[in-house]
Amino acid sequence: MRVYNFSAGPSMLPLPVLEKAAAEMLDYHGTGMSVAEMSHRSKPFQAIVDEAVFLLRELMGVPENYDILFVQGGASTQFEAVPLNLLKKGKADYVVTGNFANKAFKEAQKYGDIRLVASSKDKNYTYIPALSPEMFSPEADYVHITSNNTIFGTRYTAFPQTPSPLVCDMSSNILSEPVEVSRFGVIYAGAQKNIAPAGVTIVIVRKDLEEQALPICPTMLKWSTQAKENSLYNTPPCFSIYMAGLVFRWLKELGGVPEIYKINQYKAGLLYDFIDNSAFYTNAVNPADRSLMNVPFITPSAELDDKFVKEAAKSGLVSLKGHRLVGGMRASIYNAMPVEGVKALIGFMKKFELENA
Ligand SMILES: *Cc1c(COP(=O)(O)O)cnc(C)c1O
Repeated sequence: MRVYNFSAGPSMLPLPVLEKAAAEMLDYHGTGMSVAEMSHRSKPFQAIVDEAVFLLRELMGVPENYDILFVQGGASTQFEAVPLNLLKKGKADYVVTGNFANKAFKEAQKYGDIRLVASSKDKNYTYIPALSPEMFSPEADYVHITSNNTIFGTRYTAFPQTPSPLVCDMSSNILSEPVEVSRFGVIYAGAQKNIAPAGVTIVIVRKDLEEQALPICPTMLKWSTQAKENSLYNTPPCFSIYMAGLVFRWLKELGGVPEIYKINQYKAGLLYDFIDNSAFYTNAVNPADRSLMNVPFITPSAELDDKFVKEAAKSGLVSLKGHRLVGGMRASIYNAMPVEGVKALIGFMKKFELENA
């Protein structure tokens, strides 16, 4: 039996995508083999990469002066790839709005003069700090932000104006709402939350920013290496790229990013409205900064939180335990989570409240 999987990542994939991958598993398009067994230099695989890039470009409206790269090492490897590719003058500005943002900030410090522009640590990352252009240094090579904070359940609803290129970790909300790519120098995202199985990381980079890597930047981390080789410098995570392509096609057929954004707003709205109208459940995030993808919440006690997670799992609602830094529960409701899944969760929350309040 399929469950509703609220895991923060790796997370649910759309059912039609899994069915398509299953149907193509033994014989992909008459090749007599699965994509998992195929040479990355073969024609069918080249077509898979080309189509995935084409569809992502279309879905996000990525301008022609940006490259779309499929790399490995997760978003965490981009925490070091970003400074190694961009720190020409040796300075960068970081905004720390959560655990991953802080890891990115710490990693960059190995390579240059890295300034903390703003942080929301004072209130356990429950808000996005106000950012104005004069807070940023004109001498910086770039500004780094994290658009959605997976653990704490916050998101930027507007992006700062910055004097240097804006670099954004979009791992947990890429393709969930429209973004104007031209506002960014670099966007990167591990695929395992909103796009594909773990293994592939998306990097969208403005072409002129590929030419300023530090001499010590490893060949494999250099965006220009991957750009010149169409993400095929070495063996790429072939199967994850194939699955990403299937997800992109699914999203396009659904109506693209504007349509999934409407659905995401509806799903998150149902859950936040229910929590806000309940005296039993609480979400600590500043309402204006709430994530559409990750919804942390608590009951009146840690014992009830534990009981909630266990009983929910018995009802087919799994992976609701919150991150250890926050406790309580977290419902991750990425693009692949159907409205019915959120409704089933709310139904369970009502029942649990009646039985335990
Ligand atoms: C999950 C996540 C990461 C870490 O991704 P890996 O692919 O595991 O390295 C980084 N940033 C954000 C915002 C995330 O949600």
